[in-house]
Amino acid sequence: MAKICFDVISLFPNALQVLNDMGVISRAIKNNLISINAFNLRNYGEGSYKQVDDLPYGGGSGMVLKPEPIYRAYESIKKSKNKLTLLMSPQGQVVKQKDFVRWSSYDQLIIICGQYEGFDERVRKLADEEVSIGDYILTGGEIPAITIINGVTRVIPGTLGDPDSLNDESHNSYYLEYPQYTRPSNFRGMNVPSVLLSGNHKEIKIWRNDQRVKRTFDRRKDLILSQNFKKYPDSNRIIKTNKNPEEFFVSNESENYPNW
Ligand code: SAH
Repeated sequence: MAKICFDVISLFPNALQVLNDMGVISRAIKNNLISINAFNLRNYGEGSYKQVDDLPYGGGSGMVLKPEPIYRAYESIKKSKNKLTLLMSPQGQVVKQKDFVRWSSYDQLIIICGQYEGFDERVRKLADEEVSIGDYILTGGEIPAITIINGVTRVIPGTLGDPDSLNDESHNSYYLEYPQYTRPSNFRGMNVPSVLLSGNHKEIKIWRNDQRVKRTFDRRKDLILSQNFKKYPDSNRIIKTNKNPEEFFVSNESENYPNW
């Protein structure tokens, strides 16, 4: 049995096919780390037209997904004891990397995708969590579902060739990742910082740590100010010792931080 089974209720289940073409994810499917089952909402529609949507009570534009087909689809799914139901909705909590890690401990994730103007309010009762992938509106829940399947699969042990690559990565540790380079060392006049070519692993570690902190201050101060970041011991040190963190990191840039 796969480590995690994703059961997705969707009116456009073919959209999920794209996961089969994503290298790391398709490998995880082949290696039986995950399995993905799509439940076509149309098959659970009402009457000979298999109706799944209707006009909103009280008037207004667009169509709303009816509750009965979604409940029927949901009830047809074989449930594991250790399952969680996620409802895709721009009104939900915005997903963070730590949610992927948290969700990866379930055996089964049931994902419900809305469409059109959304779903009947009573569908919310099925969900353990309502999840948004950002403060914008897409046409349906399929892209959010693909995002969640992709993000959760990536953190399952065994999915990535090198599990260490998760450790330093942006958002896993509240810092953004340090700059990465590969060959050639000089590309169109842009040189790789010499410390990375030095073979001195201690120096490389120090440089990378500096760069992670600098990057995060430069690009995402909001992460540093967030409650979670304050719990992280390194950030306590930085915040305590520096009233104005920005000033702290402007020195010593010439060699460390190329400005092409
Ligand atoms: N009228 C609704 C939006 C409907 S969008 C509202 O204002 O809340 C149609 C469907 O697409 C939603 O039901 C949801 O399943 C999905 N969707 C759209 N944007 C999303 C987002 N940012 N995150 C998660 N799901 C989203």
